[in-house]
Amino acid sequence: EMDTFYKGRKVLETLESHGFQAYFVGGSVRDYLIGRSIGDIDITTSAKPEEVQRIFPKVIPVGIEHGTVIVRMDGESIEVTTFRVEEDYSDYRRPDQVHFVRNLEEDLARRDFTINAIAMDRHGNILDPFKGATDIKENCIQTVGSATQRFREDPLRMLRALRFASQLGFQLTAHTFSSLKEGVPLIREISIERTAVELEKLFSGSYVQQGIRGLIHTGLLDHLPIFREYKQLIHELNTVSRPFGSFREVVCLLVLAEPQVPVEMWAKTWKLSNRFKKETGQLLEAINYCKRNKIDRWLVYRLPPHLFGSFARVYEDVFGSINVADLHALRKTLPIEQKRELAVTGSDLVHLFPNRNKGPWINDYLQAIEKKVVSGELTNSKKALKEWVIYEHHPQSTD
Ligand code: ATP
Ligand code: MG
Repeated sequence: EMDTFYKGRKVLETLESHGFQAYFVGGSVRDYLIGRSIGDIDITTSAKPEEVQRIFPKVIPVGIEHGTVIVRMDGESIEVTTFRVEEDYSDYRRPDQVHFVRNLEEDLARRDFTINAIAMDRHGNILDPFKGATDIKENCIQTVGSATQRFREDPLRMLRALRFASQLGFQLTAHTFSSLKEGVPLIREISIERTAVELEKLFSGSYVQQGIRGLIHTGLLDHLPIFREYKQLIHELNTVSRPFGSFREVVCLLVLAEPQVPVEMWAKTWKLSNRFKKETGQLLEAINYCKRNKIDRWLVYRLPPHLFGSFARVYEDVFGSINVADLHALRKTLPIEQKRELAVTGSDLVHLFPNRNKGPWINDYLQAIEKKVVSGELTNSKKALKEWVIYEHHPQSTD
């Protein structure tokens, strides 16, 4: 655990040797104190972004106006943010102005929850003016300062509270919970992209049912697109016991439950990527295939292997248990992995039937051949495939 901070410690030492203060902060300190595995390491420092840039040879200016840069150190990326306080939040997107301060405590005070407002120096000493360590011991989530005010400043914090509950299994304190309940309509002010990021993390939490109950009981869900129009939808996830690996798995289950809201509508409403749309479509196609067929070569041929985990995740919720290793094993037995590996091409077919005009019949043939080759019914050789085309196959649609 402490070893994970090793790379970061070099960054702290370097900043201190130049006369600045620097601490570990945020998720990594929280997770270290909980005993959870640590994700990204965040560092907070009195050095201004330009000063950080001057000190380290490799610095990526990711959000310089907000005081954040990435320091590259021994192949790792470490986020370094200048002590700051935020002024106004009038557009609910980003603070209007960021003021750099030279004081750690002011920086900690602007952070969302006490468990996220703990700093640790390079010797492992904890600086915790808001008693976050106590809340960690008691499994509590509460805002730094007045919850009503902190949620009004940045309503995304409401969803973040529930996603931390989902990830950590912690409870919101009574005050934070009731302020959240009152504040829920404000979530509509937050951009859908930022909302989606936190919601996906909520669905990926180890205590996902706790997160889902939080969404329902606070009423936050009534202000999230699609969920607010289809009130029963969330209950489709009631029986889910394993965390979701991604938002596409959630959407796949929800589209199966409510086909009136297809993947395209999810993607458009939630501004999800084309890649999301494509992959969720592939997952759905695979699950629907399993309603009519067993898991066979054609299924693992059509589904890209990087989606096997997601597929298994959804499959378990729809049909029951399944082994991802079996899918990979089945894939290893495929005679071809891609259509272009077929021993015949469209132009081979055109040459076989010189009297026919080009048309959809070519693709019909290729598709039939592809399926037979993948399933092992036909050998993937030019000779075998041509013979089959000439003597055996009679496609419905000619010309
Ligand atoms: P994770 O392990 O998921 O990265 P995290 O706590 O590091 O969790 P981040 O979103 O990476 O969460 O944010 C890093 C830190 O920045 C938080 O721990 C918190 O101190 C602060 N922070 C992030 N978002 C906000 C916000 N909306 N309002 C106030 N502070 C925030
Ligand atoms: Mg983080």
